[in-house]
Order: sequence, then structure tokens, then C-alpha cells
Amino acid sequence: MLVNSKQMLLEAKEKKYAIPQFNINNLEWTKTILEKCNEMNLPVILGVSEGAIKYMGGCNTVVGMVKGLIKDLNIQIPVCLHVDHGQSFELCKKAIDAGFTSVMIDASKYPLDENFRITKEVVDYAHEKNVTVEAEVGHIGGTEDNITSNANNATLEDCLEISKTGIDSLAPALGSVHGLYKGKPNLDFKTMKEINDNLEIPLVLHGGTGIPNDDIKKAIECGISKININTELQIAWHNDVVKFVKEFESVYDPRKVIGSGKNAMLKAIEDKNILFFRL
Ligand SMILES: [Zn+2]
Repeated sequence: MLVNSKQMLLEAKEKKYAIPQFNINNLEWTKTILEKCNEMNLPVILGVSEGAIKYMGGCNTVVGMVKGLIKDLNIQIPVCLHVDHGQSFELCKKAIDAGFTSVMIDASKYPLDENFRITKEVVDYAHEKNVTVEAEVGHIGGTEDNITSNANNATLEDCLEISKTGIDSLAPALGSVHGLYKGKPNLDFKTMKEINDNLEIPLVLHGGTGIPNDDIKKAIECGISKININTELQIAWHNDVVKFVKEFESVYDPRKVIGSGKNAMLKAIEDKNILFFRL
């Protein structure tokens, strides 16, 4: 069932666990994530970056593929289809019109008043169509869609201000980064808890790859209700595909080559679900 993220995130916030957002890149990714989460009977958010949307052909292709898989594989869990780091109102609108059930508008590169204005525009359009909206304040650094940027931590004041746009969830930058960490992650748990104590809406942690399990548990205790995972599945998949290609150099069937990373992905998805849902 394709749903927005409202109910699942509020429930996660109340019961103190986190919903994973697994980013998808293609059919195989989507199918593997849906199958595993359905088998574990857990809700899931499928994140799609602008780069991944372009790669797969466009918003309509992504929506069609996800809807088709839900039907054909008889997926029974709540599935949210979410734009990851939408950079503009136009992109968010296009995704909403195509059938995405949730969007992130990331205007965090702008000053707060401009971030507020763009986010509010997206919220007004999205809510009319029953679509949920995530925003970002401060700026999460690292590498996303091959673009590298510097981090800038959020403050409680920024969070309170942006929440007035009516957003459904918020990603405050608090030391996590996209891609791989250089050195040890340094999350600001104190501010995280303070923001959670002062805000009604669920909080989102980006850059979940490479954060030690104990820090993930601590973040959930401090009020994080959604954690984004992207790089980790890619690395799990890549390790096994490299092994396969080295061992079976003459195999050219793309289903076998791409599929050789599936078991590693299944394991990574299961591990994240156990950790995030505190099973
Ligand atoms: Zn992110």
C-alpha cells in the first residue's frame, strides 16, 4: 500500500523507534527492499534522489515501477515513496503530480528566510494532495549525487522557525554526513534532544551509513524517528558483485551480474531493520 509518511513517523516517534529510508537506484534495489521489508512485516520509506529519478527516466517511471512491484509482489506493508533532497519547488511538484507520496525540499543552501519561503511553497502544494513534506535546516555535509558540500549545524531557533511552515518532519544537520565519514562521526546529541523536546514533528537523521550502532541507538533515544540509508546498501552490493565478476568472468547475463549482490543487500536491510525498529 502506497502511503505518505505521516502515520508511520508519528507512530515511530511515539514508540521510540526509527523508520528506515532506503534509497533506490533501479528495479533490483526496489524489489529487494520491498521483498525484505514485507517479509519482516515492517513499513518502509523508499528514498529517491534527483539523480536517481533522472537515472531511471523520470518521476512517472519511478512511480509506475513502485506501484507495479507493490501489486505484482503482493506487498502488504505501508510503503512511502519519497523524494530525497528535492532541490526546488518545481521538482517537488513534478514528483507529487506523478504520484510520489512524500517529498523532501532541501533549501538548506539558502539563508533561513529563503529556505522558509521555498519550504512553505512546497508544503502548501503538497498538503493539498495529501503528500508529506520533510525539510532541512543547517546543512548536512558530505557527498550526495556526486556533489560535495560542507556541514553547518542546525540550531533550535532555526528548527522552531522552519517548523512554522507546517512541515511533517525535519532533518536538522547535527554532525552526520552523506557518503563515507572521514574519521569518527560526531553527532550533537544534546541539541538533538533539545530540538526533539521542543518540536512536535518527527526528526530525521541523514547520512546513516557509518554511524556506529551505539550512536544510532542513542540518536533514536534522543528522538530520531527516521534514518536515511544509501551508501551502505551500495557498498554491500558492490563487494559481492566484485567477487562474482572476478570469479565468473565469462557470465554476461545482467540479471546474474546485478543479482549477485542481492544477498548482501538483503542482509544489510535486515540488520538495519533490526537496529532501527529495536527488534
Ligand atoms: Zn540526506
